[in-house]
Amino acid sequence: MAVNLLDFDLEGLAAWCEGLGEKRYRAVQLFRWIHQKGARSFGQMTDLAKSLRDKLETAAELRPLVLLAEQASADGTVKWLFDVGGGNAIETVFIPEADRGTLCVSSQAGCAVGCRFCHTGHQGFSRNLSTGEIVGQLWFAEQRLRERLDLTAGERAIDNVVMMGMGEPLQNYAALVPALRTMLDDHGYGLSRRRVTVSTSGMAQMIDRLAEDCPVALAVSLHAPDNALRDRLVPLNRKHDLDELLAACRRYLRAAPRDFITFEYCLLDGVNDSDAQAHALVRLVQGLPCKFNLIPFNPFPGSGLGRSPAVRVAAFARVLQDAGIVTTIRRTRGDDIAAACGQLAGEVQDRTGARDRLARRRLIEIAGAGGAA
Ligand code: SAH
Ligand code: SF4
Repeated sequence: MAVNLLDFDLEGLAAWCEGLGEKRYRAVQLFRWIHQKGARSFGQMTDLAKSLRDKLETAAELRPLVLLAEQASADGTVKWLFDVGGGNAIETVFIPEADRGTLCVSSQAGCAVGCRFCHTGHQGFSRNLSTGEIVGQLWFAEQRLRERLDLTAGERAIDNVVMMGMGEPLQNYAALVPALRTMLDDHGYGLSRRRVTVSTSGMAQMIDRLAEDCPVALAVSLHAPDNALRDRLVPLNRKHDLDELLAACRRYLRAAPRDFITFEYCLLDGVNDSDAQAHALVRLVQGLPCKFNLIPFNPFPGSGLGRSPAVRVAAFARVLQDAGIVTTIRRTRGDDIAAACGQLAGEVQDRTGARDRLARRRLIEIAGAGGAA
């Protein structure tokens, strides 16, 4: 199969071009065509020599994600469902803000961590996404939004990326890092390190590696103030407990582009939302520069869990705020299209019949393969 150029960060592309006998500046030109101008074919790359374009035609491709569905919410949130083969779908969500907007990107089809309150976790793990499939979400969304929002060539639709879609990004590290580098590269998307966030359920030693390889903003999904409860909610905690995780967070701050860690905390009715637990949380993070993002739980069938009432969320937030911790309560966006984190592809499959469409498509493929044989 031809090489997918979306799989490369600039260094990777330069090395690959060198193999074709091309100089580095050619790789830079090519990279800019792909990521800045959103070129979909080599024919468009008019300032590349015809001989190079011919080489690219035979050796490489720009393999886009296969779009299954697009849904736009009344509040401007847009959600895309992509078919990544084998009956798997992933989701990407655009959340508009006053100026530009945030893209919520998936890193895996499914997730192996299996958090109690997460719909992706309940679906189990299918496979890691490739770098091209991670970057491909931004590549697609940026182009699509520029069309939808009628932006001029130099304007960007997305200035913020959060790795908060499906999957645990630090369990797909090898594909993640070149994707992050492409997002940050001035010849790529030129995003600020402070505006690219990796969210993790707590892979402590991988947090250290990220600090070394590609420090970006870090969000850590905490969800409990003690190990006994966290063991139940986030099974990864049995391997990497809170002590280990918080020590990794402290070390990360030395390299991080921001001078705080964001802790995410999904509030579950009667499980982790009491005042006593809020106080325990304050003690737990004492001395660690951090902010809290409280996420109202998005219920799904069979979870056996409920969303904390708004008054409880407010009271919980107050305890943290009174202790001097900046705390925000995440607004739910795109509720009408189920665009909330943790509710991704499975929910859409249920709602839109995408699962059936995927199954039908596979049947067509199988029928096609049979016919060709
Ligand atoms: N695997 C990574 C990133 C993806 S999940 C992580 O766990 O951090 C992104 C965020 O959505 C996490 O904070 C996760 O805890 C939260 N989340 C998952 N399921 C949720 C649900 N049903 N309701 C609210 N938030 C949820
Ligand atoms: Fe995986 Fe994150 Fe969901 Fe946990 S919350 S199962 S780590 S995607």
